[in-house]
Amino acid sequence: MLNNLKIVYHQGKQYIPDPTTVEVPGIFRGRPIISDVKVNETELLELCPTEAISANPIKIDLGKCTFCGECAMRFPGKITFTKDYKLSTNERNRLIIGEGDEKQIEVNPETVRKEIHKVLGRSLKLRQISAGGDNSCEMELNAANNVQFDMSRYGIDFVASPRHADGIVITGPITKNMAEAVQICYDATPEPKIIVLVGTDAISGGIFVDSAAVDRSFLDKYHVDLYVPGNPAHPLTIINGLLDLTRKLK
Ligand code: SF4
Repeated sequence: MLNNLKIVYHQGKQYIPDPTTVEVPGIFRGRPIISDVKVNETELLELCPTEAISANPIKIDLGKCTFCGECAMRFPGKITFTKDYKLSTNERNRLIIGEGDEKQIEVNPETVRKEIHKVLGRSLKLRQISAGGDNSCEMELNAANNVQFDMSRYGIDFVASPRHADGIVITGPITKNMAEAVQICYDATPEPKIIVLVGTDAISGGIFVDSAAVDRSFLDKYHVDLYVPGNPAHPLTIINGLLDLTRKLK
């Protein structure tokens, strides 16, 4: 017994007391800041592997960005990445960061569907679908429910069947051979249900956007409730996004 108590004392707190305010230690690329410094725009645009950067004026689309950091390394006076992990939003255009934009990315409470707060505000069960994913976002979704991040404390869990779920979480670019499975899973989820896209590949197709093996027509048919950027998305981005979507009644 004494030995067990010693171990507990030695390990300290294993969980993050408040995942909405904690600071990320070490290297992490979160929300970028773009200055108005003049740079060679052609060179800047060409170095981006996913065409996430657009010109006149310079903007970065976090739905396409792989957070590789090349732009910030080549043009450190123009682009810097903060450690702000609150990147999730319910509106696609909020993921586009322009010169001088320093405000936090948020869920717009005005455009959240009413039934989300009403029905899913206290308990949210999600079915995850890896639609051609590379297992990176899937691992981060797993991590969101580990002992450190402990998303379950907010009543948010993953379930085995879409029949028991309140929504689906899609990772990966949605490959042709997974397109039907995504549709079947969505159809099997009872109303009201939400769609969450986690990671660059799910939001925009990422580096696979022009691949003949991808079929993203599912997303043309339905309203997406939450975009969670990252490549892969950080557990804190996932947790804060889901909490903002379901809990904040401003
Ligand atoms: S960090 Fe994003 S915007 Fe910059 S080069 Fe990489 S993918 Fe492009």
